[in-house]
Amino acid sequence: MPEGDTIFRAARTLHRALATRTVTAFESVYPALTRVDVDTPLAGRQVAAVQARGKHLLIEFTGDLILRTHMRMHGSWHLYRPGERWQRPRRDMRIVVSTAAFVAVGFNIPEAEFVDAAGLARHRQLAALGPDLLAAAFDRAEASRRLRARPDDTIADVLLNQRVLAGIGNVFKSEILFMARVHPRTRVRDITADAVERILAIAAQQLRANVGARDRTLAPAAGRRTTGSLHPSKGLWVYGRAGEPCRICGTAVRLEKDGADARLTYWCDCCQPGVSRTRPAVG
Ligand SMILES: [Zn+2]
Repeated sequence: MPEGDTIFRAARTLHRALATRTVTAFESVYPALTRVDVDTPLAGRQVAAVQARGKHLLIEFTGDLILRTHMRMHGSWHLYRPGERWQRPRRDMRIVVSTAAFVAVGFNIPEAEFVDAAGLARHRQLAALGPDLLAAAFDRAEASRRLRARPDDTIADVLLNQRVLAGIGNVFKSEILFMARVHPRTRVRDITADAVERILAIAAQQLRANVGARDRTLAPAAGRRTTGSLHPSKGLWVYGRAGEPCRICGTAVRLEKDGADARLTYWCDCCQPGVSRTRPAVG
């Protein structure tokens, strides 16, 4: 599932390409969207702004019309010059927003709707979102409150819960917990206040670091890194490294898949001791 930094970069790239430009054509395979386009045409409106809200991507048009999309597992936005060959087959196309200079194509986007500003303000999914790690004013106290309100959940599950904290997917979940030295199966009630603060600080810092300057691509996970290493194969601590030696202690990195969508969790047993295990005393 694309993570907050991917959506944020996609929104920023789309914003730079499309903002203030006039829509020349709109196309979609979704009847509910084309219905709106027939009734109140997109062509002739300007793109006012493109922004990310958690994992939702909002394209705002003049005349109080907003296209809300959610990429879920496999959706993506591409940006092309008019006439340029698409990198995905046409059957994957769900939405096309054309301007004279750029064409934005949404592929395999499962969730899309038009709303107005009032509808957006009372939108159930958006209203339920927890504090956005990439928002200009990330509300860490509120994130901490929402996290602690789920004492029976594991920290791995709660970090993916967008109603607690918006922006984290599988990659950052594993990386943040490794960096915070917290075992992914730890229940929230067993995590100290200090550790919660550490997790949230690392989460905010890592997502921000990963929306840096590299936004030539809209592809997910391109060049994401948490270790500080610029070497492409050394960018992540544990994610995608099952069986390979931990970069800190050399212990083999563990992997578990669970849930209907086969969520992947990577960790190091040695660097992230579980709460149920007592570590042998030294000496
Ligand atoms: Zn380790």
